[in-house]
Parts: sequence; C-alpha cells; structure tokens
Amino acid sequence: MQGIEIHDPRFRSYVLPNAPLVKLAEGFAWLEGPVWFADHETLIVSDLPNDRLLRWSAEREGADGIMSVLRQPSHFTNGNTRDTAGRLVSCSHRQRCITRTEWDGRLTVLADRYRGKRLNSPNDVVCRSDGSIWFTDPPYGINTDYEGGKQQAELPPSVYRLDGTSGELRLVADDFEGPNGLAFSPDESVLYIAESGRQFDANPTQHIRELRVSDGERLSGGRVFHKVAPGFTDGLRVDVDGNLWSSAADGVHCISPQGILLGKILVPHVVSNLTFGGRHRSRLFICASHTLYAIYTNQRGASRP
Ligand code: MG
Repeated sequence: MQGIEIHDPRFRSYVLPNAPLVKLAEGFAWLEGPVWFADHETLIVSDLPNDRLLRWSAEREGADGIMSVLRQPSHFTNGNTRDTAGRLVSCSHRQRCITRTEWDGRLTVLADRYRGKRLNSPNDVVCRSDGSIWFTDPPYGINTDYEGGKQQAELPPSVYRLDGTSGELRLVADDFEGPNGLAFSPDESVLYIAESGRQFDANPTQHIRELRVSDGERLSGGRVFHKVAPGFTDGLRVDVDGNLWSSAADGVHCISPQGILLGKILVPHVVSNLTFGGRHRSRLFICASHTLYAIYTNQRGASRP
C-alpha cells in the first residue's frame, strides 16, 4: 500500500488501501493541538509560532473543508482538548497557564501556578471521564521567543492533575526531562506520556512512558513503553482497541498496548500531533509542520478527544 508501512499483520485491518493522504491546508508555521468537535464537524488546531488558533470545518463529510482563524492572538496556544462538558481546554505558552473557553467565549484561567510558582509552558492536555484535567509542563515555550517568549523557569518539568470539582492542582509526576503529549488508555487505567527531553541536548531523552493510574488521582510505574524512531514522539492518541498512535518524523506510528510497532502512515513532513475525527472518529487529522493532512482509516479513536 502506498504511503503505508505494515510492521505487524494486525495493522492491515486498521488502514484502507484505497484511502489517500489528503492535504487539507498548508502555509502555517507549526501546527499543534488538534481537537475534534463532532457537534460542529470542526477541527480546532493551534498554529503555535503564528500565535493563533485555527478552525477547520468540513463543508460535508470527505470534503477538503474550510480553514479560518478562530482566535488571534491565542497567547501561543499549544495543546487543546475538550472537558467532560465539551468546552475547549487549552495550554497557553505565553500566559503559562491552562485555560477553558466558556460557552460565551470568555476565557477562564484554570491553573497558572503550583505552590505559588508560575508554571513553565503547559504543552499538552487531556481530560479524564471524572472531569479531572491532566497536563504536561515542560519549559519549551519559555526557552525561545519563537513559541511564546523567553522567560525564566520557576518549576521543574512536571505532569499535573487538576481536579474537576475542587480545582486543586496536584503534581503527579516530576521525573521527566520533557513531558509532552499524553493519552489515557480506553479504560483510563494507564496514562501514556511522551518524553521529548531537554530541548537543546545533542541526544535528548525521547520515548513514550507508561504510568499506572490509581484511584483516578495518582501515577506509578513509568517504564519506557516504546521508543519512536525516526525523530521523536510529541502528540499521542489512543484508539478503541488501546493502540497508541504517535507522531514521528516520518509520519504517524501505530503501537500496540504491548509496545510493539504495528505500522506507519507515512507523511511528507515531520508530524507533531494528530487526532481522530470525522463522523465515525475514523478519520485521522495530522498536524505535519506547516501542513494539515487527513486520512480515513478503518479504526476508530477512543471516545475521549
Ligand atoms: Mg506537544
């Protein structure tokens, strides 16, 4: 199959031999944080260095759709997700916080400090079915002016859990050099976290780690689950069978719950992030550097965004 690499026979049932990789839009700086709004048949995505949030809308299923600006400036928004009420939750590099977009469009800052110190630059975010919001906080956005603005770090790179009811912010992992994308397994008993290392190291730590979730509040373990190559892992999504779909330098990699590479969807540019969308959550939207691609698959994304 053109543009598809089969590394394990299981992957054959997940891809479609006659579905092309379609370029939806291009001309951006670095796309990130794709999140699907099925109720609007819309994808929201960050154009990070250009400081704007974009909206891709399907005119009809299968069409190339329309790209427009949703918010500019976006305060260098990176990762996006939806909370259990369907509201947009975003990571802001510039404001060093997690925001929620209310129904009337106002922005609410959900978290910007931990024990009185400013967060670094929240990178990616997911919500659990209990309403809690989990996010990574590496310093990538404050290391350069390009992705938010050089500022001093006050906290080590960490992973946090924000309680959906009390609003309490709890540190759940602090042994990461650069926590990045994250995704829960379908039963939410496992949290996968991409680790992309120290930004300017010659050989940064780069892999996906697997952490056990206890009582919906704590993490344990953290073994290296899979090393993505070539390139590094950034954004992650999980499908209904518990396979992990990871960004990589050569496209999107599908990895079994046992950590085995099943196959790849090859993409002409470095991939930063991805998400399942479309009417059946089987269309994969791919942020690939300056270009947005989509491809229909024969697999469905897990129900959480
Ligand atoms: Mg990221």
